[in-house]
Amino acid sequence: MNLDVQGMLKAIDAIGTTLEAHKDYLTDLDSAIGDADHGINMNRGFTKVREKVSQGTYGDLGAILKDVAMTLMSSVGGASGPLYGTFFMRMSMKLAGLQAADASSLAAAMEEGLKGIVALGKAQLEDKTMVDALSPAVEALKKAAGTGASLTEALEAAVLAAQAGMESTVPLVARKGRASYLGKRSVGHQDPGATSTYLILSTLLMSLKEVA
Ligand code: ADP
Ligand code: MG
Repeated sequence: MNLDVQGMLKAIDAIGTTLEAHKDYLTDLDSAIGDADHGINMNRGFTKVREKVSQGTYGDLGAILKDVAMTLMSSVGGASGPLYGTFFMRMSMKLAGLQAADASSLAAAMEEGLKGIVALGKAQLEDKTMVDALSPAVEALKKAAGTGASLTEALEAAVLAAQAGMESTVPLVARKGRASYLGKRSVGHQDPGATSTYLILSTLLMSLKEVA
């Protein structure tokens, strides 16, 4: 089962529902090592995204993700708005003109999105950011796609990698973003952005499986 325009719209709606349901959880994580707004930011952003894409008619995946990106950039303050905005914008460029994505095209698009996040935020692995969840997820997606896995199989591998990456942020000292101001006091807490990345990817997978 590939990800087509209808599937993408459904997944975005599902991501909005997940982020709304986990708003307090993400904000609690951010209250430990940040400024207690990550859940609020992500929920605000995806509420606007849902409004925006429900009004549009879309012929290809790139156009949907471009609207997602622009909406996040304009509605989410804080570090995560521009970072996720860039992620979806770079993905939209890779998926422009495509009516459906298989494992390889999604892997290529997400890899491009990750590059955008790194170019903007300059975070490396183990800096305790969303990159710690996204980077292993992209690697797993690419690897699975390279062995001919279906999109669902490849995303299953990516979600497991994202979960492990998210959990790996707990013992790390934050070196980027607000959490870095805490230095060693950031140890022992899971990174909010790595957590929202995991939630986004796992909801994409769940949504895709429901269609199948
Ligand atoms: P803010 O930190 O401005 O309040 P949010 O709370 O919405 O923004 O987002 C915080 C998350 O953003 C962090 O948990 C981290 O994952 C991510 N983040 C912050 N700075 C960077 C960066 N330079 N590169 C990648 N991710 C980052
Ligand atoms: Mg914050």
